[in-house]
Amino acid sequence: MIYKERIRTSSREVLIDITSIIKNVVKRSNIVSGIAFIYVPHTTCGITINENADPDVKKDIINALANIGIESISFYHLEGNSPAHVKSTIVGSSITVFIENSDLVLGRWQGIMLAEFDGPREREVWIKIIKEL
Ligand code: ZN
Repeated sequence: MIYKERIRTSSREVLIDITSIIKNVVKRSNIVSGIAFIYVPHTTCGITINENADPDVKKDIINALANIGIESISFYHLEGNSPAHVKSTIVGSSITVFIENSDLVLGRWQGIMLAEFDGPREREVWIKIIKEL
């Protein structure tokens, strides 16, 4: 089965720590050891792993992506949100995390971040939990 979690983003561009949401899905799955495949079915947001200890890192990532020149490119896509499409591709739309002892195995400073580039809006994160044989 695919677990589908809804996340409402609060602004146009923001990184949101969704680690606790994914941990909760892992617990609900009752799988002790395996992997979680975590995916966003969208074209203007992404998912990534980065520091969740200092909240300024999230702001710095958004700020850096806003200042590498993407916004000044002239795009063909008429919807007006091409920078968000490009940033989504840079960040990526899936991650894979190990599960041990019914919990995510992350580095000490790591958290799972939904990267919104065209909000605010309601997003979905899809999670597939695969049990180790
Ligand atoms: Zn578009």
